[in-house]
Amino acid sequence: MILPPDDAGIARAAEILLAGGNVALPTETVYGLAARADTEAGIAAIYRAKGRPEFNPLIVHVASLRQAGQLALLDERAELLAMHFWPGPLTLVVPLRDGAPVVPAVTAGLPTIALRMPAHPLMQAVLGKVGLPLAAPSANRSGGVSPTSPEHVRVSFGQEAPAVLDGGVCADGIESTIVALRETGWQLLRPGPIAEPAVAALLGDAMPATAERIEAPGQLARHYSPGKPVRLGAQLAEADEFLIGFDNIAGDCSLSPAGDLAEAAARLYACLHEAAASNRPRIAVTTIPELGIGVAINDRLRRAAA
Ligand code: AMP
Ligand code: MG
Repeated sequence: MILPPDDAGIARAAEILLAGGNVALPTETVYGLAARADTEAGIAAIYRAKGRPEFNPLIVHVASLRQAGQLALLDERAELLAMHFWPGPLTLVVPLRDGAPVVPAVTAGLPTIALRMPAHPLMQAVLGKVGLPLAAPSANRSGGVSPTSPEHVRVSFGQEAPAVLDGGVCADGIESTIVALRETGWQLLRPGPIAEPAVAALLGDAMPATAERIEAPGQLARHYSPGKPVRLGAQLAEADEFLIGFDNIAGDCSLSPAGDLAEAAARLYACLHEAAASNRPRIAVTTIPELGIGVAINDRLRRAAA
C-alpha cells in the first residue's frame, strides 16, 4: 500500500504507528521501516520483517533536541553536534537515560542509544503527529541493498511489504553518518553524508573505531549486498558484467555523468538495484574518489563486494 505524500497519507501513517504497526517512511538518507520505540510488538515486527540479527540495534528518530534529551544523556559535545547538523544525516550514539521509554530490543540491550533528528519534511510531519520517538532501520531485508524509493521497499519485501509513505527518491541516498561519543573521545562508526572532517572541526580528531563487539551492521564486512559478485575499480566491463560508471566512464548505469559525488551517493542504491535486477550475473563498479561523501560511497561498495 502506497500512502500519498499529503495530510491524509501522513495521518494514516501516524495512525498505523500509534497502533503499534510498521510503516516505511522517507528520510533524506534512505527509507526507514518505522515503529514506535516504546512498544515491543512493532519493534519485534521490524526485526522479523528485516531478518535482522537481534544484536543489531536500531536508530531512534526524534522530532526535537528536547525529545532526544528524554531518551539519552546529552553532553556539550552532543549538543554542539546537534546544533550544527540536526535536523540532518548525523546519528549520535550516546548513553541511554535510565527509564527512557524505549524497549530493550531497540538498543539490543546496549547501555547506549543511537539518535537522529531527520530533515525530511514528511518524516518530520509523521514524527510530529505521532508525538513519540520512532525506531527506523533501513526498509530492506537485512544485508541487502538499501531502499531510496518506494519501489525499492516493495521489491525488497515482496508480498510482505509494509505501507510506504511516498516521498519519491531520497535526496542524500546513503545512510547517516554515525558518531559515537565516548568518555575519552569520539569514534566514527559509519561514514555517511556528513564527512569526518566536518565533525573533527568541532570535536577534534576521532579515536580509532576499534569495535570490541559489533555495535553497528554498518560494521559487518558484508552488507548492502546486491546478491551477485561485485568487482571494484573497473575501467571496462567484461561481457557478463553490468558496469556501474561515474564521470567519463558511462557504464550501464552512471552514478554521475558529471562526476558529482553528491549525485553519485544519491544514485548509488538505485544503480545497485538496477544491477541486481539485470540479466548479467556479475557487477563491476568504476573507481570513486575517496573524498568527502566518496568515503561513504566506497565504504558501502566495499561491503557490497565482500
Ligand atoms: P540501519 O539498519 O541502516 O538503519 O542502521 C542502523 C545503524 O545504527 C546500525 O549500524 C546500528 O548498529 C547502529 N546503531 C544503533 N544503535 C546503536 C548503538 N547503541 N551503538 C552503536 N551503533 C548503533
Ligand atoms: Mg540498513
